[in-house]
Amino acid sequence: KKYRVWETKKVTTTCPHCATGCQMNLIVKKGKIVAVEGAPGPANEGQLCVKGRFGSHDFVHSPDRLKHPLIKKNGKFEQATWDEALDLIASKMTELKKKYGPNSLAGFSCSRAPNEDNYVMQKMVRTVFETNNVDNCARVCHSATVAGLAITLGSGAMTNTIKDITEEPEVMLIVGSNTTEAHPVIGSRIRRAKQNGCKLIVVDPRETTLAEEADIHLKIRPGTNVAFANGIMNIIISEGLEDKEYIAARTEGYDEIKKIVAEYTPEKVAAICRIDADALREAAIMYAKAEKAPIIYCLGVTEHSTGTEGVMSMSNIAMLVGKIGKAGCGVNPLRGQNNVQGACDMGCLPTDFPGYQKANKPEVISKFEKAWGVSLSSSKGLTSTEVFVAANEGKIKGLYIFGEDPIVTDPDTGHVNNALNNIEFLVVQELFMTETAAYADVILPGASYAQKEGTFSNTERRVQRVRKAVELEGEQRLDTDIFCDLMTRMGYPAHYDSASDIMDEVARLTPSFGGISFERLDRGESLQWPCTYSDHPGTPIMHCEVFSRGLGYFYPAVYKPAAELPDEEYPILLNTGRMLYHYNTRAMTGRSPGINIISNSSYIEINYKDAQKLGIGNHDRVKVYSRRGELETEALVGRKVNEGESFMTFHFPDGNANKLTNAALDEFARIPEYKVCAIKIEKA
Ligand code: SF4
Repeated sequence: KKYRVWETKKVTTTCPHCATGCQMNLIVKKGKIVAVEGAPGPANEGQLCVKGRFGSHDFVHSPDRLKHPLIKKNGKFEQATWDEALDLIASKMTELKKKYGPNSLAGFSCSRAPNEDNYVMQKMVRTVFETNNVDNCARVCHSATVAGLAITLGSGAMTNTIKDITEEPEVMLIVGSNTTEAHPVIGSRIRRAKQNGCKLIVVDPRETTLAEEADIHLKIRPGTNVAFANGIMNIIISEGLEDKEYIAARTEGYDEIKKIVAEYTPEKVAAICRIDADALREAAIMYAKAEKAPIIYCLGVTEHSTGTEGVMSMSNIAMLVGKIGKAGCGVNPLRGQNNVQGACDMGCLPTDFPGYQKANKPEVISKFEKAWGVSLSSSKGLTSTEVFVAANEGKIKGLYIFGEDPIVTDPDTGHVNNALNNIEFLVVQELFMTETAAYADVILPGASYAQKEGTFSNTERRVQRVRKAVELEGEQRLDTDIFCDLMTRMGYPAHYDSASDIMDEVARLTPSFGGISFERLDRGESLQWPCTYSDHPGTPIMHCEVFSRGLGYFYPAVYKPAAELPDEEYPILLNTGRMLYHYNTRAMTGRSPGINIISNSSYIEINYKDAQKLGIGNHDRVKVYSRRGELETEALVGRKVNEGESFMTFHFPDGNANKLTNAALDEFARIPEYKVCAIKIEKA
């Protein structure tokens, strides 16, 4: 240990990486975090994964942290005062708004930042930019969940709790989730359930750890989830295993979906998904017959040009067998970033005010106009993916990016690069000089999770405290103070005494958060929304008596192939995802020396048969090309992916898969197709 226990204090907070929401103690000595340990929490029971344990503190005190506002002059950043930076932003944004109209401005909020920051950010965009062009990075991970489950169930969130879906079930149906790497603590709970006798059905194009331990692994072709789901439903109906009573009493749209899935015979689906028809039959019957069986899914379902239909297909399966609104069941998306659920809950969406109150409903607009004392726009906002398209067309002139790095995270890097170059005035509020920040006109130094008070909402809708452990350094400011200062300079005086005051405002205006307060959380209460009044206990399992939309809706989904498929010129399918040691852009985990010793460079997984044909050996350097870009990386040759398929992450600057990926968008949620594009590979 680097410290003596009596010289330290412990601050209990929430992990800043994935949306499992593990509780942790930051060990602080002389104003610095010197270690992190697990703390008991409902999701983690004291466990932490490698990212939480070793990747949560080095970055807070990194010498790379931004400490002063910067203004770009003649192509170079120069240190500026807060007055200079904020006056410049206020005058440029006001000028652009006058010249091109409010919808020429947009803001991206930060799914890593607390709820309170996100609430004030969207309030800033709506009150002083006067537009609904506000979004967050859920757009590129789970916007299909938010849209899809809202359509079918009435609420775009996980239906059950982490404890419930990992302790109750007899069978788990896990689709497109590499849980042991992307949500490691949930992954370890699933493995514990397996050891205790729970059966696992894993639907994944790769041989992940859970796939290796599964009772049935359906190694489907990426991009065929809807066909898979319709095949499962075909078998359930053919076997007479559907829950007729539940369907009649609680759902609508069944006749149409029944007609559609009749065409998806096991043999037809096996051919589309490239799996065994008998294994599909066995999986459908195993899932349907189990009393308690949750569907757990992740980005393998959402990140497609048909992602929303993939999500709705998951709820179709669960409703068919009456498995929503019950313990040990449900439809359970594992959200990505620590507070991506919260950024959506707080209204950082172009279509929704906080609590998913619709931005196109006159009564919602007038409620917020009255509360905030301004006129609000009723025009439809753009998603972040649409903002880049609009910027390339010259329609977005001013952009404010809070804690996102789209040059690294968004598909087709070249397209994002052009869009940022086209924007007249770009503000980036960040912890570090990121690749995106380099394009900015003004950079503002914000606060990390360990320097502020607030709350994160984890994947199971649980609102948990974030607590200040160390002081701000240099001229860093609280992000909410920066937003309020800018709002004031743009003619809308704004100020909050504390993060708790912000949550009180959220609770007043957001029915599903009506009973949530710092006072209750600090008393030790553990609250999952909907939590509608001051002594409401929260809602662990949703849709028990009635769906949030009334009746559950069977969406009539038909299979459509991915937007770009392999062909003669680009014969290999590229699938992308995350790995255990790093989190997304590596802005945090990449500053942990220990983690970098284990994992510090890019790779591409390819099948041994393709490698043989191409003369590529394990660990050879290879060049990879798509229609949008190229890169060089290391080949990992084996059986992890099927012949004709490959896999990369976007964590590493030496080989970011997003130089290759396709920005084709889903029609409902505008989520891009990260999981399928066509590439060619050659030995370097
Ligand atoms: Fe943090 Fe997620 Fe790991 Fe838990 S599982 S410690 S929340 S990264």
